[in-house]
Amino acid sequence: MKQQSIPFTISKQENFFDRLGDYIGDVFYDILPEQGYELRDEQIYMAYQIEKAFKNKSTVFAEAGVGTGKTFVYLIYAICYARYMRKPAIISCADETLIEQLVKKDGDIEKLEKALGLKVDVRLAKAREQYVCMKKLDPLANQTDDEDILKVHEQIPDFVFDQGTSMQSFERYGDRKEYPWVSNEKWKQIGWDPLQQCSTCDWRHRSAQTLNRDYYRHAQDLIICSHDFYMEHIWTKESRKREGQMPLLPQASSVVFDEGHLLEFAAQKGLTYRFNSETLHSILTGYMSQDVREESLYLVEDILTLHEEWFTYLSKNAQAVTGSDRREVPRSTEMLTLARQLEQKVGKLLEQLVFDSELFTIDPYHIKIIEEYLEFYSYGLSILLKDDHGIFWLEETESDVSFVIMPRLVEDILAEEVFSQKIPFVFSSATLSQAGDFSYFAKSLGISSFDSFAVESPFDYDTQMKIHGQFVSKDQIDEKWIKIGEALNENQGKSLVLFASALEMNEFRDWADKQDWDFSIIYEGDREISESVQSFQTNINSVLCSYNLWEGLDVPGEALSQVIIASLPFPPQDPVFQAKRNHASNALKEVDHPYMLLRLRQGIGRLIRGKEDQGIIQIFMTEEEKQENLETIKQVLPVKLG
Ligand code: SF4
Repeated sequence: MKQQSIPFTISKQENFFDRLGDYIGDVFYDILPEQGYELRDEQIYMAYQIEKAFKNKSTVFAEAGVGTGKTFVYLIYAICYARYMRKPAIISCADETLIEQLVKKDGDIEKLEKALGLKVDVRLAKAREQYVCMKKLDPLANQTDDEDILKVHEQIPDFVFDQGTSMQSFERYGDRKEYPWVSNEKWKQIGWDPLQQCSTCDWRHRSAQTLNRDYYRHAQDLIICSHDFYMEHIWTKESRKREGQMPLLPQASSVVFDEGHLLEFAAQKGLTYRFNSETLHSILTGYMSQDVREESLYLVEDILTLHEEWFTYLSKNAQAVTGSDRREVPRSTEMLTLARQLEQKVGKLLEQLVFDSELFTIDPYHIKIIEEYLEFYSYGLSILLKDDHGIFWLEETESDVSFVIMPRLVEDILAEEVFSQKIPFVFSSATLSQAGDFSYFAKSLGISSFDSFAVESPFDYDTQMKIHGQFVSKDQIDEKWIKIGEALNENQGKSLVLFASALEMNEFRDWADKQDWDFSIIYEGDREISESVQSFQTNINSVLCSYNLWEGLDVPGEALSQVIIASLPFPPQDPVFQAKRNHASNALKEVDHPYMLLRLRQGIGRLIRGKEDQGIIQIFMTEEEKQENLETIKQVLPVKLG
């Protein structure tokens, strides 16, 4: 694509930021109002605050409510600066489910293009799970008669199977969005997963991931990804470079964290160590089959025995957690002793590998792969062994077991790996501060110096929105579904129903499937998510049931005129939140309440997306929850509870 130019002229004597300031003034005072956009003081104020971050290459926290037009503001800066620096800006969104929102038809980028006469080169960098894995799909297609999967296989372009084709004819394929008929469950059978070793895969050069990555890497203006993906990039960039691979994302001119309040959790997830019970075994048995010295062989045997013992112990002692697939593992002396022995033996083997590599009896590439894995293994164990540094759990499926270790605090590593870069960082969200104080948030991310501002939503919530509390007995679950059903019928569909978990949504579904409805009910996970959102938006009376779309969903108009909060969105009782609770002096006040209130505010924020929008919020809670939480909830609601 031809390099796009900055949308204003700069002479040699002029400074870029002076001219940018003039342009921003023209955009908000003249161009946008001429196109029918309202002139908003808040937006202009925001624009000049954000300009400081770009000028000083610093960090700004922009707390701005719904309808303030914050997205337009950060997009214009990010695009102009990307063109000036000749490096794309990264726009990092809360969730993989949201990254299509900005680029959808009539989305903010398209509106901006039309209003300013720009052609924006924007590309999506999706998580690896979003691409088909040929190593899984191809053998499966030869065994299965599942039509959904066979249809995906049929649509794979010929060059993928033809080793002789020239690279010129390679084209992008394999994005989950191209196969909307596949449910999330089925996608797991054919999409990439963390057990796949891409660096040694025969399909690698024609893999969907490789080709899509090569495409987005060349974006000139914007690359949109999720926080999880951005953090995966940060965490893997050095090891990828060592392996001769490119980092997941190219160098950015600036980074915008939309819904930036969720970055800390994404950072923790990105820094996660996942130990699969089989991987160590297959890596080390491959090593044993080579010309290895006796000393190393004994060590490998010891490690494999200990590893097996450790996993048997973990499987036996892990406890299930309702509503989560993370099984809790007690931090017992026995478990830690096994982990410590493993760490020592792995350390010794790493020393032996240095000798092995000097003997030149083993392929150096093979040694590198083993070393990388053992270093990863050993570092993960060291986090586990340090008191209070790690959060850990076990995940088990029918075919495999993984032990996962996540660091509890990420501030130091973020300070070093992310915020030490001298580029502008913009955090945008309706909820960043605690009553105007941004310091807690900044500290959790390792940010020592920042600018901040807060702008209220311009909407007249008192006339646009009504909020009703619905109180149900804890044991009468059907009573809740019946009330939700009544609310849906009364509104003739046109509702978003937000559930606290997939489990709760499926319970509702079991009940709803037995009822008659005059409208369609769309469930998250049945189809590719942006397709589901699109059909909810165009099919005015439909209902969308979701457990992820508390944030970021932007559906203005009649199609979304009721939001039903099926349960208060408390965090799960899983090991991650349990670790946070264990480190709080008052877990309810410091962990559960802030999380629930923030999510609740975000969920409520899905209703009014424009000046013309009108609607109802229904918040369901049990009588017990009402006693404990109602007063706190009332304080964060934009209008009085009716
Ligand atoms: S490169 Fe990775 S994702 Fe692609 S086919 Fe191979 S294992 Fe699967």
